[in-house]
Amino acid sequence: MQIIQRIGEFHDDLTEWRHDIHAHPELGFEEQRTSDLVAQKLAEFGCEVFRGIGKTGVVGRLRAGNSARSIGLRADMDCLPIEEATNLSYRSQNAGRMHACGHDGHTTMLLGAARYLAETRNFDVAVHLIFQPAEEGLGGGKAMVEDGLFDRFPCDAIFGMHNRPGLAVGKFQIRTGAMMAGGAYFDIAITGRGAHGARPEAGIDPVVTASHIAIALQTIVSRNVRPVDTAVVSVTQIHTGEAYSVIPERATIGGTARCFSKETMALIERNMRRIASGVASGFGATAELDFRIIFPPLVNDATEARFIADVAADLVGGDNVNREGGLVMASEDFSYMLEHRPGAYIQIGNGDGIGGCEVHNPGYDFNDAALPLGASLFARLAERKLACG
Ligand SMILES: [Zn+2]
Ligand SMILES: [Zn+2]
Repeated sequence: MQIIQRIGEFHDDLTEWRHDIHAHPELGFEEQRTSDLVAQKLAEFGCEVFRGIGKTGVVGRLRAGNSARSIGLRADMDCLPIEEATNLSYRSQNAGRMHACGHDGHTTMLLGAARYLAETRNFDVAVHLIFQPAEEGLGGGKAMVEDGLFDRFPCDAIFGMHNRPGLAVGKFQIRTGAMMAGGAYFDIAITGRGAHGARPEAGIDPVVTASHIAIALQTIVSRNVRPVDTAVVSVTQIHTGEAYSVIPERATIGGTARCFSKETMALIERNMRRIASGVASGFGATAELDFRIIFPPLVNDATEARFIADVAADLVGGDNVNREGGLVMASEDFSYMLEHRPGAYIQIGNGDGIGGCEVHNPGYDFNDAALPLGASLFARLAERKLACG
């Protein structure tokens, strides 16, 4: 029997699990109920279960045969701080919490793969099912790696998946090399000298200084980054002042930078530092930059990207796998794991009608029709990578 049919036989169970997780969303590193549910299901299927890796992270291990090979399959478990605006029967029961990025679906797909692999054991030797916490900007992937994930559970290659609204169910999309942007947050603290609003000559105006810095930062992408590289610098905050008649002492600027290589990110930081302090000193003020890299860029290994695309093509047909998908400016913290092991990350269609609502939107929902497809892809990756005999 084809894997997709076999997993399709328990599609109703997958849907039920997904709705249960959806109704009980938990923020990063707070995935208590979710990780309990994952651990309990993994144990039921017959996996060895390891908990507390990266705080609320869970790893399930399945072993069969005696080769030295291993694979890691990864899903994320956390929700977002959004108030759900759907009328679904299984809508969030936790105020201000919502599975608006489909991690409920990702967790369910990996559970589905675990159940199938535990039942069939058609692989040789170790499959590691990695359920990570805190993907949404809190560094759950990094926490698992720093907790010894790959020392305790060696993986020759690792694979992850994210749903893609607007891409039809039954289609997959990937690209080789850099696929998703690395992300940084920055704050610039500007110090001038406060004065009466009617006597600017007595002060150093941080409002004017901050305004000029915000404008000058626009030249990093247009004048410093090579035109063939892709980057964005967005100033998203300027905070200063409280009174009409007071020139304040300080101002702060905040924002985000995104790009596809460490070199470009270093170049952005370097230029931002020079521009901020140079413009400030031109006005007699000072500026301090705090530049924090939150995610490295997500880079797909060429061999493993081809492998996952081939496995997807076996499932849904070659015409339904786009191997040259576009760059994504959003970030994804599976990139931390990919910095330590070769692997690849693929997008799975969430639908262009139902399922078409963008992620991080209060009206979003994961499309249950994709569950057996994602579960089958995860499971086939293990069977193909660790083929018996
Ligand atoms: Zn997200
Ligand atoms: Zn996500």
